[in-house]
Amino acid sequence: MLISTNQRTLEKSVSFSGIGLHSGRKVHLTLKPAPPNHGIKFKRTDLPNMPVIPALFQMVVDTSLATVIGEEGAIVSTVEHLMASLTGMGVDNALVELDAHEVPVMDGSAKLFTSMIKKAGIVEQKSPRFCFLVKEPIEITDGDRFAAVYPSDTFKITCTIDFAHPIIGIQSFSVDVEPESFEKDIAPARTFCHFKEIEYMKQDGLALGGSLENAIVHDGEKVLNPDGLRFKDEFVRHKILDCIGDFSLLGMPFLGHMVVKKSGHMFNHLFLKEFFTRKKSWDTVLMSDAFPPEDPGKRDYSAVRSVAL
Ligand SMILES: [Zn+2]
Repeated sequence: MLISTNQRTLEKSVSFSGIGLHSGRKVHLTLKPAPPNHGIKFKRTDLPNMPVIPALFQMVVDTSLATVIGEEGAIVSTVEHLMASLTGMGVDNALVELDAHEVPVMDGSAKLFTSMIKKAGIVEQKSPRFCFLVKEPIEITDGDRFAAVYPSDTFKITCTIDFAHPIIGIQSFSVDVEPESFEKDIAPARTFCHFKEIEYMKQDGLALGGSLENAIVHDGEKVLNPDGLRFKDEFVRHKILDCIGDFSLLGMPFLGHMVVKKSGHMFNHLFLKEFFTRKKSWDTVLMSDAFPPEDPGKRDYSAVRSVAL
């Protein structure tokens, strides 16, 4: 796994463009290097004064269709797949410039974002890396939805979904979030929907850019995309991608095992709210303290120093 004790950013800027899922309009996007302790921020270059919005839990303004962050009327929608890519590839600091309110959907997965990050290159910075360290379980339940974190030596996610559609059914997947597994097992997994959902959304003026090019579309019984699925459990893998994106709004790397069942953007957000109220259940520490280099597999909580941020 990635035990980088220093913060990381991109080596150089990289630009690309794509279509916004809901607007159907072309969006230009540039990922730029950023200094230590900057975090991930989005800059709306199409608005007066070019407002900058930090990608943090406190900035979330909507979670109904996608995760939307915003401040003083300036919003950036559908940040989750790009945020997951930056977190999955271990990038702490970057500035994302875009000329629309929506991150482009690309192929509905994080594949292109991940390859753009690799194209830019990743460099280690001089400043130490901080992380959230889970010390005791935090669990929330809402009907049959469940989300929890448990102490763990790695950032791990286990996700279970249960859809009535025979093509999906019950699927479960578990992954240690580090660049290699993220790129291979999670990033290529596309978002999915029933073809009727697209029709309803288009009637409401949403998903105008939605097509078989940027989602798995099914009719409950079968997948309508001519090339089929990329993984037979692509659905649950995409839910993990969404979770990584949503939980990246914690703003720092995370050491703990997340277990989620039947979750979505809204429930993930509720969980983050609970997480921040349970301050005794976690600590913010230097990554170098969480993993003493001489014994990276074992953690001694008594040796972990809290850091004020
Ligand atoms: Zn998604």
